[in-house]
This record gives sequence, C-alpha cells and structure tokens, in this order.
Amino acid sequence: MSEHPAPDTLELFALRRLPADQLMEILRHLDACESCRERLREEKATIDTIRTALRLKG
Ligand SMILES: [Zn+2]
Repeated sequence: MSEHPAPDTLELFALRRLPADQLMEILRHLDACESCRERLREEKATIDTIRTALRLKG
C-alpha cells in the first residue's frame, strides 16, 4: 500500500479542491485504506459542522 495522504490533502479532498491527478490517487488509496476512509469521514463531519454554522449565521 502507498503512503497515507497528508491531513491537508484529505481536507482538500473533502472540500473537492484537489486537482484531478491527485484526486485519482486519493480515491485509489481510500479504496484500499480503511483508516483513511475513517479520517475522511471525520473530516467531512467537521466540514459539515462548519458549513451548517455558517449557513445559520448568514
Ligand atoms: Zn491510508
């Protein structure tokens, strides 16, 4: 298995800001790596919380 993506990379992935070449790399990694899928779930939960808070504010 290849190296785990950096936390920043996972965050960008969750925000859908990754360039296509990196995106494919991450998708392939996530397909094989349960621990990164778990990290991504937490990342997405954090982002959803922030988005919801911003929406309530504005
Ligand atoms: Zn991983």
